[in-house]
Amino acid sequence: MDLRRRMELLSEAALPDREHGLPRAGRLAPVGSRPLASVGIAKVRLPGGGATQLMRVMQTSACSLSCGYCPTWCGGKVRRATLAPNEVATVFAEAHRKGHAQGLFLTSGVPGRPHRATDRMLATLDILRRREGFEGYIHVKILPGAEREQVVAAARLANRVSVNLEAPSDDGLRALSREKDLSGDLLPKLELAGRLALAARHDPRPGTVRPAGNTTQFVVGAAGERDRQILGLVARLERERLLHHAHFSAFQPVEGTPLEGRPAAPAAREFRLYQAEHLLRRYGFAFDDLVFDADGNLPLDDDPKTAWAHAHPRWFPVEVTTAPLERLLRVPGIGPRSARTLVEGRRAVALRMLGDLRGAGVDVERAAWWLTLHGRRLAAAPSPRQLRLFAPGQHLTQAPFRTAVPPCAYR
Ligand code: SF4
Repeated sequence: MDLRRRMELLSEAALPDREHGLPRAGRLAPVGSRPLASVGIAKVRLPGGGATQLMRVMQTSACSLSCGYCPTWCGGKVRRATLAPNEVATVFAEAHRKGHAQGLFLTSGVPGRPHRATDRMLATLDILRRREGFEGYIHVKILPGAEREQVVAAARLANRVSVNLEAPSDDGLRALSREKDLSGDLLPKLELAGRLALAARHDPRPGTVRPAGNTTQFVVGAAGERDRQILGLVARLERERLLHHAHFSAFQPVEGTPLEGRPAAPAAREFRLYQAEHLLRRYGFAFDDLVFDADGNLPLDDDPKTAWAHAHPRWFPVEVTTAPLERLLRVPGIGPRSARTLVEGRRAVALRMLGDLRGAGVDVERAAWWLTLHGRRLAAAPSPRQLRLFAPGQHLTQAPFRTAVPPCAYR
């Protein structure tokens, strides 16, 4: 198979591995007569706003593991292809020189011994950094079974190192993949990558890459795991600063895989997990603040912040002209940016009407019931508007699924 065809196959295969977890955010340009240097480039939204062009590619789609949710599993009927380290590095360097890609996301299947596949990925990164002199963003996936020294090498070469935990417990992971080991392999590797990123941030050495923090991903709803377990693990890792953020992927059965007969997980569950993770990471919520249903999952018909607000009626209403930032952040419809704008803006100009709140970026329809403005409550009842976070006519348990608002816009 020629290089172009292998690049197309391996970049298409890398698409489901998300960089920022925004549902259906990145899309490859259609295959056609594109120049080789533009194959595999996807637009990715950045967490702080803006977007970047990332080349996403697998080093190989050959794999001897049996992950039951993955079309590339060892028994899958997908076409297999492999790129040599020099091929990936050369194509990416060309794409970067031509301005098509600002960064690289590199992942791989695991054909045979994991350390060999990992060595090939590290060789790609080494060529890019040393021969090509590339100093930009690289995100590399650590493979299950990689060696400790390889994690150390990856942290030296890549800005972001990620380890997909897939499930929050050993039993859960075994139900997804016979070969993967959570507490003996994946979790310690993720924690090691987190410690290395932390050390590099505190003690940056000349000539070393700037760490962007490591990430992980969970397959949601295939193994009976509960949101409480997933978020408990995520909260602990983020609190210890060993994890920058987590991705969640609602399980969708793929024909011809070991889990093809299992029901799809509601994609709304994925969305709620993202919202809850945002509360932990950006809103000052603790894990114990999160409200779960009796089955241990987040409610689907209330976003996690509204669920918390309903469970804590004594906190409300919040007086918007005097409340401190932390209190404003607890109000549904007020996000970190609008809370800061309110606190800074009201020092200079008095808040007088709803339009002033709107101008600060508050989602007034959602926030009104929870607020007073100079002692006057702004709505007679809570808004049901949160349901509009989903596409019109979308049932919350339905899949496939699109959200009208991405989690990064969550307030
Ligand atoms: S290791 Fe598992 S998830 Fe990764 S390519 Fe192989 S089968 Fe798929």
